[in-house]
Amino acid sequence: MQLRLSAAGRVLVTGGAGYIGSHTVLQLLLEGCSVVVVDNLDNSSEVAVQRVAELAGEFRKNLTFHKIDIRDKEALEEVFASTKFDAVIHFAGLKAVGESVQKPLLYYKNNLIGTITLLEVMAVHRCKKLVFSSSATVYGWPKDLPCTEESSLSAMNPYGRTKLMIEDICRDMHHADSEWKIMLLRYFNPVGAHPSGDIGEDPRGIPNNLMPLVQQVAVGRRPALTVFGNDYLTKDGTGVRDYIHVVDLAEGHIAALKKLFEDPKIGCEVYNLGTGKGTSVLEMVAAFEKASGKKIPLVFAGRRPGDAEVLFASTSKAEKELNWKAKYGIEEMCRDQWNWASKNPWGYESPDTANGGVTK
Ligand code: NAD
Ligand code: UDP
Repeated sequence: MQLRLSAAGRVLVTGGAGYIGSHTVLQLLLEGCSVVVVDNLDNSSEVAVQRVAELAGEFRKNLTFHKIDIRDKEALEEVFASTKFDAVIHFAGLKAVGESVQKPLLYYKNNLIGTITLLEVMAVHRCKKLVFSSSATVYGWPKDLPCTEESSLSAMNPYGRTKLMIEDICRDMHHADSEWKIMLLRYFNPVGAHPSGDIGEDPRGIPNNLMPLVQQVAVGRRPALTVFGNDYLTKDGTGVRDYIHVVDLAEGHIAALKKLFEDPKIGCEVYNLGTGKGTSVLEMVAAFEKASGKKIPLVFAGRRPGDAEVLFASTSKAEKELNWKAKYGIEEMCRDQWNWASKNPWGYESPDTANGGVTK
């Protein structure tokens, strides 16, 4: 698949020090783009940006990093005043579902105010091309599968509501001013890491998602994985999700940018980024055990409130219109996840500085 970006020269990436952001920034640099990353490092480390620069080789000269909170309008103004951006990829946001239920205002303030501030500054500087990180969570507990971009939407928690609201804000922006060209990308479940093992997922605090937890059990940072629910109407009773390799997801952003730059008919468009395949928790654990040679002890618990039973994507719209399709399966996802974990058992930190340890 040839995704060469010809027109997308200068790209601002919010949240570019984070998990998906760092992988996407690397792809953008390798495509020849100039990339400015803004991130407040709330859930990430500057080391990720340094590693991306190293992996980018000669292209590292095209990468700039600013430690900025996107709600800080003045700081964002300065960044836009210094560079004329062709597009923005907006990853910055808080993403822990459970925390969003406990601290809804934190989520509304960060994700909504952050996005509105960004859109305001973009408008002033006449940069009106945006790629936004939405989520499969907007499908709630779907009645029909696979989820197509036309499936009904419902949010099951404040985090999901921020995604739905931001999607609506983007549709309204385009409706009010057709110069806005926006891609809303609904990610399914990103896992794995860059094959180098130098960048990967390293959330601060106790992870929420399945694979960072599996990984921490494998390297001895946690005693066991708690499986949330084994009474679902699925093949083995555990929840089913559409896991997608983070490198495939990063490529999906390149494809979306390419479309944004090359197709004059683009308005505000939605695309699912997934593989179209459903995998259960137990299947994922088995694949990881095979890839790592490590036994993952399991503790079975009740269902996690707000969890859907089964979620997987229809990928045909992205395949047809973005000319993009995920290449990797769960074997490669687990292989690369383990490569990252075994090379970096404490993520970007050391045992002394990492705050995701069992005792914290
Ligand atoms: P991440 O936490 O690793 O990355 C998000 C980055 O944004 C972090 O580096 C964080 O420090 C930064 N950030 C947060 N608030 C900020 C602010 N106000 N100003 C500046 N920087 C800020 O998460 P990720 O997994 O890379 O997710 C990226 C985006 O994709 C998020 O919007 C998330 O909601 C969305 N998404 C993630 C998943 C997933 O499972 N990982 C699934 C669907 C959608
Ligand atoms: N899950 C689990 N134990 C955990 C974390 C997740 O059994 O410690 C299950 C969860 O119930 C779901 C699947 O793993 O069926 C994926 O969960 P994740 O939080 O990674 O993604 P999401 O639910 O947001 O799609």
